[in-house]
Amino acid sequence: MSDIQIKNVVKEYSSTFTALRGVSIDVAEGEFVSLLGPSGCGKTTLLRSIAGLEDIHGGSISVKGKVLSEKGYTMPPERRNVGLIFQSYALWPHMTVFKNIAYGLKLHGWSKADIGPRVAEVLKVVGLEGLEERYPSQLSGGQMQRVAVARSLAAAPSVLLFDEPLSNLDAKLRESMRVELRRIQKEVGTTAVYVTHDQAEAMVISDRIVLMNQGEIVQQGTAKELYETPETMFAAKFLGFANMLAARVISTDAGSGLAQFELEGVSAPLITGRARKDVHVNDRVHLSLRPEAIRIGSTTDTSHGFPDRRATLPASVEDVIYAGNICDVFLNVSGLRLRAQVTPGDLEGLSVGDGVTAIFDSRSIWPVPADDATASVDAVGVRVDEDVPMAAVAG
Ligand code: ATP
Repeated sequence: MSDIQIKNVVKEYSSTFTALRGVSIDVAEGEFVSLLGPSGCGKTTLLRSIAGLEDIHGGSISVKGKVLSEKGYTMPPERRNVGLIFQSYALWPHMTVFKNIAYGLKLHGWSKADIGPRVAEVLKVVGLEGLEERYPSQLSGGQMQRVAVARSLAAAPSVLLFDEPLSNLDAKLRESMRVELRRIQKEVGTTAVYVTHDQAEAMVISDRIVLMNQGEIVQQGTAKELYETPETMFAAKFLGFANMLAARVISTDAGSGLAQFELEGVSAPLITGRARKDVHVNDRVHLSLRPEAIRIGSTTDTSHGFPDRRATLPASVEDVIYAGNICDVFLNVSGLRLRAQVTPGDLEGLSVGDGVTAIFDSRSIWPVPADDATASVDAVGVRVDEDVPMAAVAG
């Protein structure tokens, strides 16, 4: 049975605005699930509903088989045994680290004799042994967030809820804290739900990602599933950058799991890519091709890497951008702009204007339906590097 069961949850903020439109998610015991999506998609509303801070107007929320929220009933937050961790840390500034953590335990009726060892235990879990007597003002941002996590863990909650907890930290610290929060969650084994609009964070930290847009779930799965097989344009664009190539399906072969596609608006050879059950001959699709899947070979290169499932497109080099460990190469395929990402070593001998071959494994070509109404991504959800001109703009 699921540890957290969210069934068809509806949340209305007014008679004309519905923030959650029938959201269903099952979270397994010990699982770490991220709610990911652009600003305003309803992530925080859902998290607050699980915490009991919002009433819901349809469906139900259960934890460990017990209904905590349904229409007309909201169990108060203090009776839910959930640990909430916010972006703002919410520590009491006039209390030491020890007292910040001990306070909640006292309210839960813990005896003095038990509180000391428990505080020491959770401080060890978050890697803050020895800092018991410091005040929050004497801690770094990362340390304050660790105290907030320790405080939530202290009373052994049945569920941990994180609301963008790393947003106040600088980029480097955020990266290391992602790994650290995941380690802590796995060590204590408490089921966790984590809200973020940062796709990289969601990919690193969670076992499963629930991608939301406009109060609905767009897709849920592992980071690999969402990244490699996005079901919609919205999902393909939200997680990282993807070249999106307008194409028509020429043939499909269930046996090999491959299909052939004709690129639209450009004169280029047919491309072999992956088939999917809901894509049929003559359908219009967009082919998702991640930039790191493209290798750049010479015009005569026919054996570069993928002997069995190789796909190639003749191209010319339009621009080369050196960016340290990963570099961008923009390719022109008969007027179609493709972005490739390669290592600095691959740039050797490559100049703007060169004729080359864009080479990729057919398995890295993934079709998404062309008539996808959810294709637009709010500005907040777009990664900075999506400011780079999109591929698939023919002509
Ligand atoms: P963000 O990443 O910006 O926090 P979010 O995905 O968490 O966004 P929510 O905070 O859940 O989004 O908000 C979902 C929608 O509900 C938004 O359109 C928001 O303006 C609206 N909303 C949130 N709280 C209220 C409220 N108390 N009253 C009315 N509308 C609200």
